Amino acid sequence: MTGSTTPLEADVIVVGLGAWGSQALWRLASRGVRVIGVERFGIGHNLGSTHGATRLFRIACMEHPGLAPIALRARDLWYELGAATGQTLLRQTGGLMVGPADGQVVTGTLRAAEHAGIDVTVLDNAELAKQFPQYAALGPDHIGVWDPAAGLAYPERGVRAAVAAAEELGATVLSDTRVTNIDLVDGGVVVRAGGYTLRAPRIVMAMGAWMPKFVDVPLVARRTPMFWFEGENPGDIEAGGAYALENFPVFIRQLSDGTSLWGHGADTEDGDGYAVKMGLEDAGEVFSDADADEVDRYIHRDADTTLLSEAVGRAFPGMNPEPFKAIPCIVTNSVDRQFVIGRPGGDERIVIAGGDSGHGFKHAPAIGEILAQLVLDEEPFTDVAFMSPDRTYDGTSWADDMTVAPRAVATAQS
Ligand SMILES: Cc1cc2nc3c(=O)[nH]c(=O)nc-3n(C[C@H](O)[C@H](O)[C@H](O)COP(=O)(O)OP(=O)(O)OC[C@H]3O[C@@H](n4cnc5c(N)ncnc54)[C@H](O)[C@@H]3O)c2cc1C
Repeated sequence: MTGSTTPLEADVIVVGLGAWGSQALWRLASRGVRVIGVERFGIGHNLGSTHGATRLFRIACMEHPGLAPIALRARDLWYELGAATGQTLLRQTGGLMVGPADGQVVTGTLRAAEHAGIDVTVLDNAELAKQFPQYAALGPDHIGVWDPAAGLAYPERGVRAAVAAAEELGATVLSDTRVTNIDLVDGGVVVRAGGYTLRAPRIVMAMGAWMPKFVDVPLVARRTPMFWFEGENPGDIEAGGAYALENFPVFIRQLSDGTSLWGHGADTEDGDGYAVKMGLEDAGEVFSDADADEVDRYIHRDADTTLLSEAVGRAFPGMNPEPFKAIPCIVTNSVDRQFVIGRPGGDERIVIAGGDSGHGFKHAPAIGEILAQLVLDEEPFTDVAFMSPDRTYDGTSWADDMTVAPRAVATAQS
């Protein structure tokens, strides 16, 4: 739609149509709610956190026990949305979690699988090396956990699908329209975006790395590049090759020194065709803080690649450790690396969704469902207290730091 001075009204306004906002729009529209979604860029763009073709999907999420029910609901909704829009949005191809038997990746996955009721198979050192010879450089105490429920979800396609499904159900979408002001008023919010003035009793704010510009919460945007690699032989990344997805499935791999790599083999069926995708877990020093409007979109050969290449060389000797493609991306970390979802300070007008902390795409449709339920005063389908903006973290009251008062959301700086 193009700019207009006409005021628009709705039951709910969703700001930010990335992974989470697009799904909130769909879940709200599917309830018959009058909803307007506003996105500053195009739908399914590559300037936020949701760009590229693939993201790892897991149900046995080691990050928090409360995530498994969310992933289970997300699985069902990914299939529902895929069926509604006639495309593949999730492929459960299975995944391998590898590392020291007493390390966080293995023990965390086993604990999460048990909690979620997911059947996983433990592969001892010898069995792992036999079934997956790409892992020949295993430490002697390293084992694998095969998780058949893991797989790949598809980010840009997923955003476009959710927005299309929402529009089909009657949602209004304003793309290429930047929200500049969110004013809290008696009985609701007034949002200024491009030439529009939007009014609604309630708002969902899902602006990803731009959230710190609108809400007074401890969130830090981090520049997080993603990389692609090739095998040593040209055929390795072709269908059936050693580093094709069917032979080199989705993985998270913890090395002996604690470094963790994530990735998956070349997805020749539904992926981007760029070969093996891999990256480092951000342990705090790998990536850098960023301002979402000024993030460095260049790749710097040594600064960005040295640590990763060295880890890839150690982990997978049959792989060329020099990445052949890289793209900067951005995530938003919360203090405890859990999502920040809920009504800060209990203000009934606002629900926020931020702090994706680099693991939020797989859950997107279920997060959208939670956002819809919260903003409509429905009971969420699962316990959301661990994601509350007002949660207590490590002895500190988050409520002290994270109050979204009218003053705090009144004006955007960007
Ligand atoms: C390299 C990398 C690898 C990852 N791997 C995985 C993985 O394997 N599995 C997984 O589950 N997750 C993964 N993630 C994390 C996942 O991609 C994110 O958690 C998810 O995409 C976050 O979505 P979001 O909706 O919070 O943010 P975004 O998708 O960025 O959405 C925010 C939206 O708000 C819009 N916006 C901002 N300000 C305004 C404004 N003023 N007006 C209007 N619109 C505005 C933005 O343009 C944007 O579209 C990875 C992330 C990266 C970077």
